[in-house]
Amino acid sequence: MRANSRDRDLRDRAAAVIPGGMFGHQSTRLLPDDYPQFFSRAKGARLWDADGNELLDFMCAYGPNLMGYADDAIDDAYVSRMRQGDTMTGPTGLIVELAEQFTRMVTHADWAIFCKNGGDATQIALMTARAHTGRKTVVLAKGAYHGAAPWCATRPNGVTPEDKANQVFCVYNDIASLEAAVAAAGDDLAAIFAAPMKHDAFTDQVLPDPAYARRARELCDSTGALLVVDDVRAGLRIARDCSWSAVGVQPDLSSWGKCFANGHPISALLGANKAKRAAAQIFTTGSFWYQAAPMAAALETLRRVRETDYLEHMEGLGTRLRDGLAERAAASGFGFRQTGPVTMPLFLFDEDPDLRKGFFWSSQMLKRGVYVHPWHNMFLCAAMTPADIDQALDAAEDSFVALKAQAGSLEPVAKMSFLLA
Ligand SMILES: *Cc1c(COP(=O)(O)O)cnc(C)c1O
Repeated sequence: MRANSRDRDLRDRAAAVIPGGMFGHQSTRLLPDDYPQFFSRAKGARLWDADGNELLDFMCAYGPNLMGYADDAIDDAYVSRMRQGDTMTGPTGLIVELAEQFTRMVTHADWAIFCKNGGDATQIALMTARAHTGRKTVVLAKGAYHGAAPWCATRPNGVTPEDKANQVFCVYNDIASLEAAVAAAGDDLAAIFAAPMKHDAFTDQVLPDPAYARRARELCDSTGALLVVDDVRAGLRIARDCSWSAVGVQPDLSSWGKCFANGHPISALLGANKAKRAAAQIFTTGSFWYQAAPMAAALETLRRVRETDYLEHMEGLGTRLRDGLAERAAASGFGFRQTGPVTMPLFLFDEDPDLRKGFFWSSQMLKRGVYVHPWHNMFLCAAMTPADIDQALDAAEDSFVALKAQAGSLEPVAKMSFLLA
């Protein structure tokens, strides 16, 4: 049995002082019951939960962990800058250096605005596109996540229809549907928001069809609207550039967050010169957006991105994981779908509408010290090693065997019954 008494005690206390016991994407409400809610520390590719159980972590903080948790060089850069002043009356020169470095790395980018959360960056993208065009309507892909602000919130509670006005939806990778959405926007199209790939929860991931990406670019060019790629999640795990550079399409704006300072709080909107005037005209700011220490961490992270083979290393590990899992799933006779880039895998079982197989298998992985997610895309980090992948594969082999023994008698997962509706 995994120890969990500290976690249970913290949950009880949290239930009294934190709405719902925990809010947002880090709530374990929709995870198997044995998943820990609280953690105590992290190093490299590993996490320790509040009860001290060690876990090889394939969630990477839902993206922010790129080079490894508590990376010495990145955290040294952060701490030494913090000790000299972090939040001050004005920014340090690091903001200029970071804008220079980042725009040099990202082909379409000529300028940068730094903020805190990915949702800040997508909101600034929306405002910049509206200011640039003098128009209101944006085209979005159905189900794509762009943050938790009212304009893009994924649940209706607390959100008004007016918050979501001036939006038209299309189906990802469906050119006809994209064209219909643009036609519906008429002469009011301000932007097409594109996810770098379809990385929605509860469903297989889908890589972008280059023809769809090119058509989005053409439609923006012919209407004067701006093309936005929301690279907050996939950024730096597909390319050392905007993720759509892999399909040969350059956007006008790209939003970044999560991992470019290896977990330190900073996000960015990068833009092309044509949108620079509009970006200078909007009012956007935040008390903590100019902090120097996250910028120092970002500079060190981007140096590693440029100067090391971190990406090829992660791709090698991701391929080893994908091939090894496919082999083990097949040996146990399970249809096991692994989708998305190998650096950002998502696992779903065939014939598993309420995820009872996925929940059981993920719990078995957890028991064997490996943290996987039953319905959200995962992330590899550069601190992982081939031995870590082999540990995950050994755990998976045993977990498939355990699932096979139980598969006939699994109980429905009550908390996931909404998926059947
Ligand atoms: C996480 C995410 C966001 C929002 O970023 P926050 O830092 O959570 O505000 C926006 N877009 C995508 C694609 C994301 O994955």
